[in-house]
Amino acid sequence: MTDTRQGEGTTGPSVDKEALKAKYREERDKRLRPDGSAQYQRLTGRFAHYSVDPYTPRVEREPVTDHVTFAFIGGGFAGLVTGARLKEAGIEDVRIIDKAGDFGGTWYWNRYPGAQCDTASFVYMPLLEETGHMPTEKYAHAPEILDHCQRIGKQYGLYDLALFHTEVTGLEWQEEESRWLVSTNRGDRFTATFIGMGTGPLHVAKLPGIPGIEDFQGHSFHTSRWDYEYTGGDPFGAPMDKLTDKRVAIIGTGATAVQCVPHLARSCRELYVFQRTPSSVDVRGNRPTDPEWFGQIATPGWQQRWLENFTANQSGGTAEEDLVQDGWTDLARRVRARILALPTEGITPQKMMEAFEDSDFEKMEEIRARVDAIVKDPETAAGLKAWYRQLCKRPCFHDEYLQAYNTPGTHLVHTDGKGVERITATGVVALGREYDVDCIIYASGFEVGSEYTSRAGFDLSGVDGVKLSQHWDEGMRTLHGIYSHGFPNAFIVQPTQGANLISNVPHNLTESGRTIAAVVSHAVESGRSRVEVTAEAEQAWIDLLLSGPGMMLGSPDCTPGYYNNEGQDPGPRARYNVGYPFGAMAFFSYLNDWRSSGAFEGLEFS
Ligand code: NDP
Repeated sequence: MTDTRQGEGTTGPSVDKEALKAKYREERDKRLRPDGSAQYQRLTGRFAHYSVDPYTPRVEREPVTDHVTFAFIGGGFAGLVTGARLKEAGIEDVRIIDKAGDFGGTWYWNRYPGAQCDTASFVYMPLLEETGHMPTEKYAHAPEILDHCQRIGKQYGLYDLALFHTEVTGLEWQEEESRWLVSTNRGDRFTATFIGMGTGPLHVAKLPGIPGIEDFQGHSFHTSRWDYEYTGGDPFGAPMDKLTDKRVAIIGTGATAVQCVPHLARSCRELYVFQRTPSSVDVRGNRPTDPEWFGQIATPGWQQRWLENFTANQSGGTAEEDLVQDGWTDLARRVRARILALPTEGITPQKMMEAFEDSDFEKMEEIRARVDAIVKDPETAAGLKAWYRQLCKRPCFHDEYLQAYNTPGTHLVHTDGKGVERITATGVVALGREYDVDCIIYASGFEVGSEYTSRAGFDLSGVDGVKLSQHWDEGMRTLHGIYSHGFPNAFIVQPTQGANLISNVPHNLTESGRTIAAVVSHAVESGRSRVEVTAEAEQAWIDLLLSGPGMMLGSPDCTPGYYNNEGQDPGPRARYNVGYPFGAMAFFSYLNDWRSSGAFEGLEFS
């Protein structure tokens, strides 16, 4: 059964571009709402029970009051790769602090059934060569990635000083002692010569602000706190045998829902998928890794070669071959082929934009045709078609998601952009109809676009007590996305104002980790205790960033979502959320030269 209100659009081999653009605008306009990001709510206050860690019991411990050379906030990939590089550089006392019960970051929290990486394991999973791990699949599943995080933690001795189930609440620079005072919600007050922050962009889960959400009397949880006690099954994909007699609603159809819906469809008596905007779902093509093949490619330096190849293919580089060969590199391949077909004198910015647009229309037509080819019920198929450019929303890739709608008992409730209207004590209301359910699963995503310091849960208090939020009052200010003036010995590990390579976030992090280790070991080896970016170097970097074309993601023409601040004007501060103007590949190469020169231009050591 399907509730769908979406009409048919343009399909077929020849694309009517103007009709398609009009359709895209019409679909976007249906979804624009004045409250933008304010439509969501955090898992705090009356929703605090949603944020309890279901995976690891909290262990009581005494507060910590010692000193370490390096304290890192966040035990996900950012903390792990930076910690590993610091250890390699001979910095022994590295302490990682995380609110989770173990390492893993996003892979600690996201254990929903079917969770797997969306970027090929060989480039997504960091330090594969160093740890000797062979990913078992082209797109590894979550338990293997979590295991890998723990493997890195163990191999580099990062467990020794780690503090888990601990949230940093304060970071205060002590100028005289040249160190940071770190305070936490467990009563810790310890000091660190250097601090790093890798809190991740998507770590604060959010719930939709649907009227009546607190009235529901059945069971409910957020996908990042999957309740296997209730559903049965496990993160490895065991059948969720406790759902066989249950009516389940899942709200949201983003990248998370795309991965867990097939598992729910197999398990529930009735599954209602409440959709506001369909995801674009392209071919996944996952397969087990052939150890013989892996033995041939895994020669010294292999992962760096793969990383560089993926990035070059992704960011308009000149790689001759495409090692990864997947959906991420497909669009770039098409664009490049179109541009290469132009006569040399015909390569103008206008023609390049057209090549991009034509490739996108072509790709999205294929993705929509795929829905028709797979989904048997025409009304359901119509509802599952995405009417926007591929990079307007997070592209998804899956070989079982669309098929799940052919499972008896699985229903798409396509709300045609309106979303869920209301939640009652017993169910979910959409388009005026109430669906009685036993359980509601919120696949409603994570907070994006809020202040860095608000998401992180702490603000840095730097030189003369100036807060990071004050320094970034008009927008983010860094050199390389790592150092900020007035915050000595502090390093930020994330993509913005650096490579900004969104298709493979860990690549950004590994390069930052390597760079930070080089800076810290230079300071330690040369007997300096303070390193700070100069105001001039920071300003020059900002000027360079602003000279670029601006954001590729987040066009106001797109259907609303977190890529474009839910369709609202993000304000002048957002223009700072950009990457190196010459692309990710050029940035990594520049950063490598900067680091290897040993001059660390723009930083002042004392
Ligand atoms: P998203 O923010 O992408 O999706 C949230 C979903 O909830 C959207 O479909 C949204 O609809 C829907 N929604 C919100 N409010 C309502 C409402 N009132 N009624 C109905 N639907 C509603 O969250 P995800 O957790 O899916 O993904 C977040 C990000 O995490 C991804 O974009 C990706 O970057 C990352 N991720 C990565 C994975 C990987 O690499 N393997 C896997 C999963 C996630 P609408 O679109 O209309 O706003």
